[in-house]
Amino acid sequence: MMTSAIVTVAWGLGSVLWVELVRDFYHLLSHYWPPLYRLHVWHHRVFRPDLTAVSDEIYRQAHWYNDVPECLVMLAFSLLLWGVTHIWAPAEQWVVLAGTLYTLGFLFSAIARGSGLKWAHELTDYTHSPGAFLTPPSNWTVNRPYHWRHHFDNQKAYYCGTFTLVDKLMGTALSLKGKTIAVTGASGTLGRSLLHHLHNRGAKVIALTSKDQAMNLLVQEKNIPLKTITWQVGKESELVSELEQVDILILNHGINVHGERTAEAIALSYEVNTFSSWRLMELFFKTVRTNEEIARKEVWVNTSEAEVSPAVSPLYELSKRALGDLVTLRRLDAPCVVRKLILGPFKSNLNPIGVMSADWVAKQIVNLAVRDVRNIIVTINPFILVAFPMKEFFVSTYFKLFSRQTDA
Ligand SMILES: [Zn+2]
Ligand SMILES: [Zn+2]
Repeated sequence: MMTSAIVTVAWGLGSVLWVELVRDFYHLLSHYWPPLYRLHVWHHRVFRPDLTAVSDEIYRQAHWYNDVPECLVMLAFSLLLWGVTHIWAPAEQWVVLAGTLYTLGFLFSAIARGSGLKWAHELTDYTHSPGAFLTPPSNWTVNRPYHWRHHFDNQKAYYCGTFTLVDKLMGTALSLKGKTIAVTGASGTLGRSLLHHLHNRGAKVIALTSKDQAMNLLVQEKNIPLKTITWQVGKESELVSELEQVDILILNHGINVHGERTAEAIALSYEVNTFSSWRLMELFFKTVRTNEEIARKEVWVNTSEAEVSPAVSPLYELSKRALGDLVTLRRLDAPCVVRKLILGPFKSNLNPIGVMSADWVAKQIVNLAVRDVRNIIVTINPFILVAFPMKEFFVSTYFKLFSRQTDA
């Protein structure tokens, strides 16, 4: 009895997921197939960046040209699923009509909006409602900042309407095209590789380095001069005006004192690995104010797999773990998306015996970021894949329970 109830619920939820997948692929197709785009473009004409409608007439027309046909396609596919279950799994044929009912809800609200009924917009079109964004883009479901980016960041990304699954599969859950991305530790091995792969994705990259030398990027045997900003640990606040212009800040600088255990080595490790990154992250948070900044800005922090495993360098582990914990604590109420980079040992000047190449690691980081992975793990150690998410979940829950957002 119990199992058959579970199976029935699974078919019902599956039929809803099915029509959502149809919606997202139809939307994707609309951006690549001109006949459909001619209908869909009406949806893109409607909204101003503050999500108010350009005019009542265009608003109504957009629903007849875009939302209603979209719902009809979903309806047809939900009936197709019903037909298939009617033949192959007749016991479940009635429960899959949940997807049809769900689609009819959207169809009738699209017709109501097309007819110009005011209540219909406020009640049924959540992702296009104007007003201040209260949270950054969400991860598994589509909220207002997530969808805003489809209209005003990059129309060739962020296709999903309700669940973000299709964007995650397609690598369109984050667009790097045209984004200004600053990377610290830019002259290091990983820093260079990251700049390279981000540039390949169409980002405008900025190198932040302690070395007093302008950097180049070697692309197809051509040297491209990079915007290089020299800065020093302890002088993070001098970067504030630069950070205002940055969409994504990647905190990647670090030091490894290996086996040292002097007072100086302790101070240096925490200053560079923990506090310098933490200060830059806080300064960057202060540059996130408008809806556009909430939707587009991000911080990525390279905390390394030393968060959960030995790195044969005690002070490196201690200082990186402290940084990792501070990021976990602060991202509970961060104004923008914060990602962690959990990287295994790669070959670099700091670590000549690393197994992975920095170039491969950088490529994987970018691959996972465009799938909106918030904790980007790149390692050859399977233990990390299990241990890190567990550690992050428990520490984050503990911090949530025993700390609060304000003193009030
Ligand atoms: Zn839209
Ligand atoms: Zn679109």
